[in-house]
Amino acid sequence: MSSLDQPLGTLLGPRTAKELDSGLGLRTVGDLLRHYPRRYARRGELTDLADLEVGEHSTVVATVRKVTLRDLRKSPGGRTGRGGAPGQMLTVVVGDGRRELTLVFFGRGVHVPGKELTVGREGLFAGKVSMFNGTRQLSHPEYLLFDGEGSAAEGSDTEGSDAAAAFARALIPVYPATDALPTWKISKAVRALLDLTADLDDELLPTPVRESHGLLPLPQALRWVHEPQDAAQVAVAHDRLRWDEAFPLQVVLAQRRASRSVAPALPRPGRPGGLRDAFLERLPFALTAGQQEVATVLADELARPHPMNRLLQGEVGSGKTVVALLAMLQVVDSGGQAALLAPTEVLAAQHVRSITAFLGPLAQAGMLGGSDVATRVALLTGSQGAAERRRNLLDAASGAAGIVIGTHALLQEHVQLADLGLVVVDEQHRFGVEQRDALRSKAGTPPHVLVMTATPIPRTVAMTVFGDLEVSTLTELPRGRSPIVTHVVPAGDKPHFLARAWERLREEVAAGHQGYVVCPRIGAAAGPDGDDAPVAAAEPDPGQEGRGPGAGVLDVAPALADGPLAGLRLGVLHGRLPAEEKDDVMRRFTAGELDVLVATTVIEVGVDVPNATVMTVLDADRFGVSQLHQLRGRVGRGGAASICLLVTELAGGPSRERLEAVAATTDGFELSRIDLEARREGDVLGTSQSGRRTSLRLLSVLRDEATIRAAREEASALVARDPQLAEAPAELRRVVATLLDDERSEFLEKA
Ligand code: ADP
Ligand code: MG
Repeated sequence: MSSLDQPLGTLLGPRTAKELDSGLGLRTVGDLLRHYPRRYARRGELTDLADLEVGEHSTVVATVRKVTLRDLRKSPGGRTGRGGAPGQMLTVVVGDGRRELTLVFFGRGVHVPGKELTVGREGLFAGKVSMFNGTRQLSHPEYLLFDGEGSAAEGSDTEGSDAAAAFARALIPVYPATDALPTWKISKAVRALLDLTADLDDELLPTPVRESHGLLPLPQALRWVHEPQDAAQVAVAHDRLRWDEAFPLQVVLAQRRASRSVAPALPRPGRPGGLRDAFLERLPFALTAGQQEVATVLADELARPHPMNRLLQGEVGSGKTVVALLAMLQVVDSGGQAALLAPTEVLAAQHVRSITAFLGPLAQAGMLGGSDVATRVALLTGSQGAAERRRNLLDAASGAAGIVIGTHALLQEHVQLADLGLVVVDEQHRFGVEQRDALRSKAGTPPHVLVMTATPIPRTVAMTVFGDLEVSTLTELPRGRSPIVTHVVPAGDKPHFLARAWERLREEVAAGHQGYVVCPRIGAAAGPDGDDAPVAAAEPDPGQEGRGPGAGVLDVAPALADGPLAGLRLGVLHGRLPAEEKDDVMRRFTAGELDVLVATTVIEVGVDVPNATVMTVLDADRFGVSQLHQLRGRVGRGGAASICLLVTELAGGPSRERLEAVAATTDGFELSRIDLEARREGDVLGTSQSGRRTSLRLLSVLRDEATIRAAREEASALVARDPQLAEAPAELRRVVATLLDDERSEFLEKA
């Protein structure tokens, strides 16, 4: 009986096993059988050469169009053969009918490879794509020629006849491959393995699950994905194999939910006439219906004897903070403390300011004029002075501060809290699971957890990445919020548009408003922004090649002060400034003592100045879609109409198109979809969010909603019946254990 975790060497021999391991890291039967074809080629159906990416290893089906053999002259820099005789260069042009690709081989006389490449032959060509004199080429590619009758002969290799049989088939699997290991070699190893493992009995899906969803048995699915007769076989094989990825993941999440739901937590029901009530009394506005609803859900869950684990998502400015504050106050009313974890020092300080302002006398316990129900708010950040830090640490440890706000500094070991009842994580996308867990560990019994994010997460991603959390969404913006009009400003071909953009900013300031100018870098040789504010790594884009590093705050600010914004009061804000200076700049901007803030993305989250009505983003194409949306949320927070100008030098291309998309809609869900689709799947889950990068090959968290949903239901049912998976297939237990291990080792790496 063969099994998926058997090493490849025992079945395929040490040489092949070594090639597969060093080339692609494939070690076990399961590794190779789950190394699925990337796509399928068809004889006679030529690959679109327009899709070839320079620098990528690619495999194409093409026809030989032209062959030239040329002697290389023996000149300095010219290539010559050994022994002094002139070498030869064979140039073979292959085409897809519209575009051409050049193959080059060097050699001498009969030793020039590629001689069997004659005009009209069709085959597979594989190698790393390079650019030479404006045309794409493969240097010394591997190839496999089809012959007239539907078999194939292999070049640069001696195993042709065996490969030939495989390609009599209609669909040719094209595997993720390397130069040393072209796709047909992988194909050959897989075929041998399929025959040797026909008795494979490693079903991971429980039979009833498989049957009720009409999924193929594993051996058949593997056979069909690697050696399909037609496209329909590939499709049903994929359906089955996607379950192999979705199901174990959902089982892990279901187990986590189940264990949390029975874990004990201290109920924090609050008390009538306490802080929460007093705060609601003071609140200068009415909660929106959505806020009411979420506040009620949180209040109920906090009162239960099991930990709340909830994700609150809502557009920038939808009023999440107030809702979170109500939950925090309820916990304080119950004798506990709440910790609020913010991603940057600027945001932490901003939270302290706005929360103490909201609370007024309610945050002044022990001070003259403080209310009797009052508490205190403590701030803990990395760059605090020693005395201030000691005072805040003491307030946190003694319990005098009911609310403790901080950055990563809060996670440090020596930070102690008297009775941590609730952890609120703001702007989740900058924190990983492990940080949530680190905070959790500061509580005696598991605390309640509320995670907030302003980057809307498509439901399927929420179900996968945040699958252990329940989700609430604030959809409506509070009244008084104004529309933001966004324009793309093409500064490259139309410099006067940029001049107009600065005029527009001056007009807003003249009307008594304020504005932001955002740059992708700090500039003046300071490098990327500091530790607390990673600047966007915009998706790679061919249009970006060879461009400068992008506008920097330290270069732009003086240029504006002496130029288009002369006479305005400018402030500068970036992550490398000392904390007091950041605070001071923010305070002055908030107080209206500055007209314009020239900043990096430190202002991306949480900065709340309702009087700001204009934002100009320089080199906007350097930012991701969600990030621009987030940035844009800094304006339109007051009563006045607001404008966002996205300046770019790009005239076209994908990055420019992304900017147009941001200008065209303010629907955050739509934009986060566009953003996620622009990235590769692995980056969606990202190692920072989860250790699952390697486990997803076929499953797309964006496209496969139906599968994920069904797998989630089945997984919940299974875990409810059999929490320890005692009755479940052994292979399922093994895969689940591997997922947990990966997660743990990643946690250890980061610790
Ligand atoms: P988020 O954190 O979701 O981006 P905030 O909680 O910071 O949003 O709220 C943005 C602004 O809206 C704050 O100034 C807040 O005081 C205000 N706000 C919140 N809820 C309401 C409401 N129901 N009515 C009016 N203003 C509100
Ligand atoms: Mg917020």
